[in-house]
Amino acid sequence: MADERDEGGGLAPETRAITAGRASNQSALAPILWATTTFTYDTVDEGRRLATAAGTERFYTRYGNPTINAFEETIAELEGAEACRAFASGMGAISAVVLGLCSTGDHIVAQRQIYAGTQLLLQTMCPRFGIDVTFVDGTETGAFAAAIRPGKTMLVVAETPANPCLTLVDLDELGSISGPMTMVDSTFATPLGQQPIGHGVDLVVHSATKAIAGHNDATIGVVSGTAELMSWLWNFAVLHGANASPFDALNAHRGVRTLGVRLARQSATAQRVAEFLEGHPSVTRVCYPGLASHPQHELATRQMSSMGGLITFDVDGGIEAGARFVEATRIALQAASLGGPETLVTHPGSTTHVGITLEERAATGIGPGTIRVSCGLEDPDDIVADLGQALDAAVG
Ligand SMILES: *Cc1c(COP(=O)(O)O)cnc(C)c1O
Repeated sequence: MADERDEGGGLAPETRAITAGRASNQSALAPILWATTTFTYDTVDEGRRLATAAGTERFYTRYGNPTINAFEETIAELEGAEACRAFASGMGAISAVVLGLCSTGDHIVAQRQIYAGTQLLLQTMCPRFGIDVTFVDGTETGAFAAAIRPGKTMLVVAETPANPCLTLVDLDELGSISGPMTMVDSTFATPLGQQPIGHGVDLVVHSATKAIAGHNDATIGVVSGTAELMSWLWNFAVLHGANASPFDALNAHRGVRTLGVRLARQSATAQRVAEFLEGHPSVTRVCYPGLASHPQHELATRQMSSMGGLITFDVDGGIEAGARFVEATRIALQAASLGGPETLVTHPGSTTHVGITLEERAATGIGPGTIRVSCGLEDPDDIVADLGQALDAAVG
């Protein structure tokens, strides 16, 4: 597994999650909430400087804010990036990258296995602006590079581990692409589970709504990259207007402090749950990068230091069994998020994907009995017992 101690003065990432982003704390131990929309200045020169400096933190909160900046500094440090910008959501971050960096006539190469919101943005929004998108299989060696149109392709969009079946993209291969900018949605891995910038990737985004904030109480997104790219993005973001709220940045920054222990616990629980599911007669398929049976398990151990809390699996018995399963869980709750303290289950076949044909679902890896589990922080024995009794109720 990767040793990430070379940056940050020899400290381990889990330690840096505690020490980072304290510059504007003054003597307060916890991050300070700057609940203000604007900041005063004394001279015209000062006002001009504050209004035009990329990443300015004391002019107007849409431009920047000390609470948000402290969170951004923390994420940048954990990613090994020069700079970070927070947005109002993960989609705010992704749409800022796509619409801020691409123009009419540009081309994007994106992976087919991707978050539904990102897919819709690329599929329905980009054509309206004359941006052409080619979708490729992100698990196939050389697929991104083969789809690049020299001089036309501006951006390569990847996600790893990816929705919905936890497939991986080889970060070394992605990082070696020259010409277009490369972007990775690293939400499922968290900044402590993998660091795409170290593999040569240009931009890393997270829905910090998920494991980074970690308590289901903040909707926020982040993009990290070089100072130059982030300065470009900042100029767009100020006009795009999807800035993070200081309160969400405060909650997300608080979340980072405990990300190390939460990720370790959720990864250990998920490994246990995945092994339990793999041995269960009513389960036909289990996707988890930590399982030796995952087709990219070797790649996972090379580029990820934790496998994360998400598992996708198939219940035997189709749509009906899948629906019965999610209604039979007692500890695991039905809700559409991940990375928080509560174990959550979703059955795309009877909820998010009812409007999509079975063939289209199958092409993205979603079968009738496919279930997604986000392992929470409850006792692992209780989670295993709960999923076991729900399987018995659904199929038994
Ligand atoms: C949730 C999610 C998003 C979108 O983030 P929001 O904060 O909901 O806008 C993007 N990518 C992945 C992988 C996600 O799980």
